[in-house]
Amino acid sequence: MTLRGPLQVRVFAPAKINLTLHVTGQKPNGYHLLDTLVAFADVGDTLDLSVGNAPFTVSGPEAANVPDAKGNLVTQVAHLFPDLPHVSLSLHKTLPVAAGIGGGSADAAAAFRGMLALRSVMPEQQGEEQPYDELLKLGADIPMCVASSVARVQGIGDVVRALPQFPAVHAVLVNPRVPLSTPDVFNALKCRANEAMPEEIPTLSDAGEVVDWLAGQRNDLEAPALSLQPSISDVLSVLRAQPACLLARMSGSGATCFGVFGGENAARDAARAVMAQRPDWWVQATSLGDQARRAMPQVR
Ligand code: ATP
Repeated sequence: MTLRGPLQVRVFAPAKINLTLHVTGQKPNGYHLLDTLVAFADVGDTLDLSVGNAPFTVSGPEAANVPDAKGNLVTQVAHLFPDLPHVSLSLHKTLPVAAGIGGGSADAAAAFRGMLALRSVMPEQQGEEQPYDELLKLGADIPMCVASSVARVQGIGDVVRALPQFPAVHAVLVNPRVPLSTPDVFNALKCRANEAMPEEIPTLSDAGEVVDWLAGQRNDLEAPALSLQPSISDVLSVLRAQPACLLARMSGSGATCFGVFGGENAARDAARAVMAQRPDWWVQATSLGDQARRAMPQVR
């Protein structure tokens, strides 16, 4: 390694929200086939990478539930780069763990972008292959988090097609502070081969059109998640009771739900109202859309 000096890379890891999630089948090896539309929030974790041998650290309000270095996806991704053995990793965790918003996957994808950025400033390493295929083995949601763009994702998470025209919408994210295990939710799923989304997703120009289209789609994991964790129905009811809420749905395998609102002020007012009603819940007003630009590593 010829790199010298206090080089640091900071990467934003935005929360992934499944606006729809259709379970369309299951492979003989147990992997589920999905058809999902994902968008990214402007809330997320932050990963710092620097040249050195400091131990992996985790800080932030949600640090307590994050696995240690051995079990953490961030360090597992760093190990995919044997040509960069001396990288110190420091994660600031603000997303709740096991919450259906892909926190671990977003962190893993951020580590991937960060390692590539570090490698790009090392002239002798620039021809190295990107270990992209290995990411899917670490987690089916990781490839969709790499670009952090609105995308339709199919297969087992390996077919990711960006939807560049999709408009950002204002939303409120609410987690009732109960972790849900993704495998448990899939095990509770009754029907494992539901209808896919329509072949073509139409061009949608504003929040109203997005909501009208989303209303015709589903999250197939909502019913099984609710059977395991009834407080999800409280979250959906509280969101739907907000005067300007246009649609409320669970993200991923739960328990986080999102409510879509017509504007930023409406979303902020609703977030304040939900926080006042349930101070024990995790509540965030956000925009949901493309976070590709913000997710780009900042080299200092
Ligand atoms: P999924 O991607 O399955 O929808 P999720 O959003 O429900 O996941 P995550 O917060 O990604 O949940 O956590 C799933 C599991 O990943 C946790 O049980 C945790 O042990 C593990 N994990 C590994 N690395 C991390 C990380 N950096 N942050 C959070 N969880 C992690």
